[in-house]
Amino acid sequence: MSHPLNILERYWKFTSFRPQQEPIINAVIEGEDTFALLPTGGGKSLCFQIPALAKEGICVVISPLVALMKDQVKALNDKGIKAMALTSGISYNELDTLLDNCIYGNYKFLYLSPERLQQELVQDRIRQMPVNLIAVDEAHCISQWGNDFRPAYKNIRLLRQLQPSVNVIALTASARWNIIKDITEELDFIQPKIFKQSFYRSNLAYMVFHENDKYYRIEIILKKYKASSIIYVRNRKLTIDLSTFLNSKNISATFYHGGLSNDEKDTNMSKWLNNQTQVMVATNAFGMGIDKPDVKTVIHINLPESLESYFQEAGRAGRDGNKAFAILLKNNSDEVLVKNQFLKILPSVEFVKQVYRKLSSYFQISYGEGPYSIHDFNFNDFCKTYKFPSVLTYNTLLLLDRNSIISLSKQFKNNV
Ligand code: ADP
Ligand code: MG
Repeated sequence: MSHPLNILERYWKFTSFRPQQEPIINAVIEGEDTFALLPTGGGKSLCFQIPALAKEGICVVISPLVALMKDQVKALNDKGIKAMALTSGISYNELDTLLDNCIYGNYKFLYLSPERLQQELVQDRIRQMPVNLIAVDEAHCISQWGNDFRPAYKNIRLLRQLQPSVNVIALTASARWNIIKDITEELDFIQPKIFKQSFYRSNLAYMVFHENDKYYRIEIILKKYKASSIIYVRNRKLTIDLSTFLNSKNISATFYHGGLSNDEKDTNMSKWLNNQTQVMVATNAFGMGIDKPDVKTVIHINLPESLESYFQEAGRAGRDGNKAFAILLKNNSDEVLVKNQFLKILPSVEFVKQVYRKLSSYFQISYGEGPYSIHDFNFNDFCKTYKFPSVLTYNTLLLLDRNSIISLSKQFKNNV
């Protein structure tokens, strides 16, 4: 069996591992059920690809998006590694042949969507394969707590029954306590090895601008940093509106939202990926697993839905390690909006309880009190970097430190 570092050098031409990759790979090779919690861009793919290459047999990878599967299969094929993806639009006969190839053709990776697992033919063949590892990428899709919940992810448990002696690795950039708990339960993890990297991103500057003319500010930012950018907007119409505006200002832009056809999505996405267009204007449908290293700015034109999604979306900037910017634009009406929302919920004891519950799910992570002892999610650092000034939202509540929360909730109680 080759050593992980030799595999890394031989196929990837990298000379060293990123933080946590090596212990994760070792645990997987030793046959442990493993949890890899690394931020976006942290290098999760290698964590299952290298163990699979180190062993005889084939690795079954569950992945939520066709684009992700295609990217990874292509990257592996380019390295001379046999990998295939069972995407949609394959006829029954083709599927049959592909699966046969997989069994008899010494394939190392079989990528499939959770929906594919529902097919009996697929299940039968997987049972016959010499599976060496089951990898569940973007594992947070299993949890209803996240934005990316995919009911079919509940099928994954079935893989365990098909291959009872094979270990599982779950990979995600989400470190929320309740999501981790869901993944653990759904995948029948009993004593998983959990590895977590600090989510602190030293090359990413978080900024908030108060700006009444947001389009104008975006134009200025993009003309200053003439580099790849993502702009998140609240709805589909705005993606078109803003990209049209930018094009009229000679800033090349395209758009992406959940209502586009697959063809349109592919076209717009690849224009942006190839740097034919500088800017991708998108709703939150865009981004999961996007591996574009040179994104310089991620701009939010509206206040984000949640701290979690903000961190994920903003984290798509600067994956190459170069200085990058996460920029949040707000204006008076945003503030009025959230202040009103806040005032509406302020007196409710139930709300305070909810916040507590939410926070405790973070604090367990933050202070390592949970049964899994996940330590270094440092909330205070996180808050300091964030600097959400003067906007009181439910999200900012989540940004306060423990003492502020306690004193705030005392005030709440006195007010009620
Ligand atoms: P994630 O799935 O965690 O978002 P990826 O697996 O897509 O991250 O990896 C992100 C990028 O980092 C890829 O371009 C990958 O080639 C690169 N990368 C991963 N591991 C290493 C390493 N040890 N050295 C250098 N680059 C790496
Ligand atoms: Mg990934």
